[in-house]
Amino acid sequence: MDSCIFCKIVAKQIPAAVLYESDRVLAFPDVSPQAPTHLLIIPKAHFSHVGEIPEAELSVIQEMVGAARRLASEKGLSERGYRLVMNVNPEGGQTVFHVHMHLLAGQQMGPSLVG
Ligand code: AMP
Repeated sequence: MDSCIFCKIVAKQIPAAVLYESDRVLAFPDVSPQAPTHLLIIPKAHFSHVGEIPEAELSVIQEMVGAARRLASEKGLSERGYRLVMNVNPEGGQTVFHVHMHLLAGQQMGPSLVG
């Protein structure tokens, strides 16, 4: 996807401070953090939203959760806690149409999941 900003990060065409990288997954800080720790975990392959991931490739979500757990552990966040969020399509709040998972941490999260 030529115009996809996250594909450009995967291709190293625009910079990001990569925190985790495997064959299928990449993680880097969100450019506009909404919590003291705000990371994005993405599949390297382009899927516009979770509904576009073929059944046979859904294991990439498992890898993304694995990366999130590993990063949370490395940052000492596992016990305190963190929030994992995936926004799907416009009404779900998605603004970048390349699948991604937000890892938010470092503050007490509120009870509301919508806003
Ligand atoms: P969403 O609203 O769930 O689609 O989240 C998209 C996220 O991507 C937002 O939190 C943005 O701040 C973040 N974002 C957009 N461009 C970049 C970038 N170049 N590097 C890191 N994060 C970005």
